[in-house]
Amino acid sequence: DALSNKIAAGEVVERPASVVKELVENAIDAGSSIIEIEIEEAGLSKIRIIDNGHGIEEDDVLMAFQRHATSKIKTDNDLFRIRTLGFRGEALPSIASVSRLEMKTSTGETGNRVVIEGGKVEVSEKSSSRKGTDITITDLFFNTPARLKYLKTVHTELGNITDIVNRLALSHPEVSFRLLHNERKLLHTNGNGDVRQVLAAIYGLNIVKKMIPVEASSLDFKLNGWIALPEITRASRNYISTMINGRFIKNYPLVKAIQEGYHTLLPIGRYPIVLLNIEMDPLLVDVNVHPSKMDVRLSKEHELNELVTSTIKNTFKKEEL
Ligand code: ADP
Ligand code: MG
Repeated sequence: DALSNKIAAGEVVERPASVVKELVENAIDAGSSIIEIEIEEAGLSKIRIIDNGHGIEEDDVLMAFQRHATSKIKTDNDLFRIRTLGFRGEALPSIASVSRLEMKTSTGETGNRVVIEGGKVEVSEKSSSRKGTDITITDLFFNTPARLKYLKTVHTELGNITDIVNRLALSHPEVSFRLLHNERKLLHTNGNGDVRQVLAAIYGLNIVKKMIPVEASSLDFKLNGWIALPEITRASRNYISTMINGRFIKNYPLVKAIQEGYHTLLPIGRYPIVLLNIEMDPLLVDVNVHPSKMDVRLSKEHELNELVTSTIKNTFKKEEL
């Protein structure tokens, strides 16, 4: 019902960036090869996502806005087993309950358009459109003033959005992303499948030229990624991105292990640029706190962290030779 959707919304959609994350993940799950994201006023006046994915069948359109109608998982660490990013069937109903939403979606055969305001379906009709989904959120949080008040400046909220889109682009180099804010282009990746191309779009070609590949494996883990030479540093840890089985996670000990790999090579208070993916058994991942926070705890953490630290150390030793 409307109230439980609004309560769930508090968990799923904290801020504009969480809306962008959920909608872009849906577009990725739909098999899109091109995703365009148009933002106005850091998402408060408009968030529009256009994809060329498989669209939603006519009979399923309204169901997509019903909570849990589409939930795919039974336990939290199923999250690292399932192939799709979505799993709770909570995002669309939550977002629709705290905004004005218009969605046009087409499988190529049937096409539909819905308009939902504050969780109430105002329009549901056939419409012809090209294959894919085009969803526009306006007036986010118009009916939850407390949530609105809690938001930070446009600058901060936009930073959160670009952060999320950058991460999604890094974990999906096979998808072309375009991010526009107030019609200004903030990111464009070409979708050629090469993660270096995404790194270049985000950090610039000069940085990418100073990043080197890492690869290692043990019985339980397989690592691969790109690490910047120690001469390239940043003032925050935000440039250390870690993934498990292609999904971004947060795990502080892992970030420490990466820094430890650079050992004495970094000045105090400076951090490296790193993109690291770990392939591992989903059963070794414990989803801590709330799944959408991506905070995880890992079994065999010690073994993993030693592997990470020594892999980075060895990479720089080899570089010196
Ligand atoms: P979840 O992603 O957890 O399944 P959501 O509420 O995000 O739940 O979406 C509900 C359902 O709507 C999805 O499972 C999917 O079937 C459908 N859907 C949402 N967005 C899209 C899209 N852009 N393209 C195709 N199908 C979509
Ligand atoms: Mg989803």
